[in-house]
Amino acid sequence: MITKMFAVGTLCTNCYVVGCTETREALIIDPGFETNLEAKAILKEIDERKLRVIYIVNTHGHSDHTAGNGTVKKLTGAPILIHEYDAPMLTDSTKNLSTMFGLRATSPPSADRMLHDGDVVQVGKVALKILHTPGHSRGSISLLGADAVFTGDTLFAGSIGRTDLPSSSYEEIMLSLKKLATLPDHITVYPGHGPTSTIGEEKRHNPFLQNLST
Ligand SMILES: [Zn+2]
Ligand SMILES: [Zn+2]
Repeated sequence: MITKMFAVGTLCTNCYVVGCTETREALIIDPGFETNLEAKAILKEIDERKLRVIYIVNTHGHSDHTAGNGTVKKLTGAPILIHEYDAPMLTDSTKNLSTMFGLRATSPPSADRMLHDGDVVQVGKVALKILHTPGHSRGSISLLGADAVFTGDTLFAGSIGRTDLPSSSYEEIMLSLKKLATLPDHITVYPGHGPTSTIGEEKRHNPFLQNLST
């Protein structure tokens, strides 16, 4: 598996390119970029590695994770995948917070496929299992691979996503964190913002993962 991380947009969102070394098929997680320059850097990387983007996946519907969906879709023709609960956010600038974040309102494309807990998104030999991890938003997901998990704004290194936003729930995010804490310690955590970590590291040091009731 190839994983390349780009920090994009005013909120420094992590956009990931995940590809299969054998078939060269790839997916883009959270293309949250706002400028063509950012889009170009990512597409150059894809080009140089001779990858073919077959999916765009959003960990949730906030615009800092979805603002570049239209650009990537236009250039690659790849469908947009998002959990069904967050799908309506893609085309609603109030729900996706682009109005609140002060991002320019465009006419973003809607979802092509709804994701559900337990679905598998496959690029070549790389399989990513969808874990529904609500709390930051109702339709937040994590994507679990063989030795990596992409956690969006559910789990950060040393912290967690905001739960004071519309459709957020502190109770739900705590249940989602409990679910993530059951993953093996060696799994690398690729969060929606900030540096990478591991499940073991987060279980030891993240204050929100301490004393998770059983
Ligand atoms: Zn968010
Ligand atoms: Zn975010």
